[in-house]
Amino acid sequence: MFQKQTYIGRFAPSPTGPLHFGSVYTALASFLQARSQQGQWLLRIDDLDTPRNIKGSVESILSTLDTLGLYWDGKVAYQSQTLDVYHQVLEQLALHQLIYPCICSRKTLTQRYNGRCRYQTIDLVLPHAWRIKTDQQRLSFKDVLQGSVSECLSEQGDFILKRKDQIMAYQFAVVVDDHLQGINQVVRGYDLLDSTPRQIFLHHVLGYTLPSYMHVPIIIDEQGYKLSKQTLATAVDLTQPESLIFKLLTLLKQNPPNALKEASVDELLAWGMTHWNPAHLQGCSQLTIPSA
Ligand code: GLU
Repeated sequence: MFQKQTYIGRFAPSPTGPLHFGSVYTALASFLQARSQQGQWLLRIDDLDTPRNIKGSVESILSTLDTLGLYWDGKVAYQSQTLDVYHQVLEQLALHQLIYPCICSRKTLTQRYNGRCRYQTIDLVLPHAWRIKTDQQRLSFKDVLQGSVSECLSEQGDFILKRKDQIMAYQFAVVVDDHLQGINQVVRGYDLLDSTPRQIFLHHVLGYTLPSYMHVPIIIDEQGYKLSKQTLATAVDLTQPESLIFKLLTLLKQNPPNALKEASVDELLAWGMTHWNPAHLQGCSQLTIPSA
């Protein structure tokens, strides 16, 4: 008999600082999307970019989610614990000549990689990155909120799976982990929409089942800058978790009724799960953070 597949979603912050308003906005969207479908919601810490990791971030992320009642299923996953798998996958790709070493330095590179090392024999003693061979094919997919997206990967050129500093590239690791964790829908910020064609390409090359994608709006400040660690967005204010969730539900365009202003975190989340309708965010790529 046909059984409906369990929804498995995830939230995958990088431990580069505490969660800011924009990150809890995405977390809540992805939580509601999973829970409204009786799905699982996994938490993964994307901690591969070690120079960018900040001590204490993991603890702070976990306790923020806890305060907001955003409980995840199972154990927290850490990308740093999957290193063996990435290496095995890379070996397979190398064996099939789908990737190649690249010694080009950032300085000599323009926006698009011209494939210089693709057709040369590279001495592996030299510091090198590994790039995947892309092709002329146009990749198209339908994002749940942003509609049709189409890109020809050769416009950007062959992209990096393992960096010269030995760190696994985000595009690669995220695909392997989403596959390992059985993620069937990725909910994340609009800023990652342009990474998605590369990730879909990798899913295809690796023969993985493709998840669906839903990119929620990013939150910008009054000056129009995306809230991010780079713009020094501060940790989200947790002094009143209830009013924070109410604010987030409003910004998720779920129109929580005023009566909920007195509600507890659990009541707000329960309301959110029953009334969740992401279609209200259709086509929306950014929203301005409301002033306090
Ligand atoms: N770790 C990434 C970030 O914090 C998000 C990864 C993803 O959702 O694909 O921006």
